[in-house]
Amino acid sequence: MWLLLIEDEVRLARSLQTGLEEEGYTVDVAGDGEEGELRALANAYDVLIVDWRLPRRDGKTVVENLRAAGREMPILMLTALSDVEHRVSGLDAGADDYLPKPFKFEELLARLRALLRRPPLATQQEVLQLGLLEVNTRRRQATFDGARLDLRPKEFALLEDFMRHPDEVISRTVLAERVWGDPFCVTDNVMDVTIFGLRQKLADVQPGTPEAHAVRIETVRGVGYRLVVEGAPDLLHDAT
Ligand code: CA
Repeated sequence: MWLLLIEDEVRLARSLQTGLEEEGYTVDVAGDGEEGELRALANAYDVLIVDWRLPRRDGKTVVENLRAAGREMPILMLTALSDVEHRVSGLDAGADDYLPKPFKFEELLARLRALLRRPPLATQQEVLQLGLLEVNTRRRQATFDGARLDLRPKEFALLEDFMRHPDEVISRTVLAERVWGDPFCVTDNVMDVTIFGLRQKLADVQPGTPEAHAVRIETVRGVGYRLVVEGAPDLLHDAT
């Protein structure tokens, strides 16, 4: 596993590098945001750890730029800020998870393992279709009535999971396991933000869509979530 650590605190960077190398990772370190972004664009890293506060270019901008350039490797953000808003905006920028400083090294390892344990590759159909909603698992594209949904990797994985289990109520624990790879490594906040983002993007592509064709993620209180596709006749029970 080839990892890039973008961290300007030299002592922390050194100790993380040593620890991660002992765990079998190949580790490159960049000491500022600009250098980090250049390295991440130039090399095919398996995973990135990006500090929020960096000289020359802040971590959030680095993540945004990498995602805009089409880089899809998992990204873990480190933040010293306890402010929830900053964490949410890190996820919004395209990070997959965040870890507040100070953290235990064991926790960092657990987060990395969870990020790297991607959901199993789709061995079933390449194109999943429910009503007007279509998901191409090979191209990693989702469309509603031809309109493309601009999804982040975890939002896509979430939608794909819902599409593979139509009309099924899926619990948060199961989603954590299947989409994030580990129920103990995804915080409620991360899941909430991801579900919120997916809902928002589903709503964005269906303005004015008649209720009869609408697609939405329904909350089943105390149980979980269900993808509701009104226009998919095979999903309707007792349609009399
Ligand atoms: Ca810093």
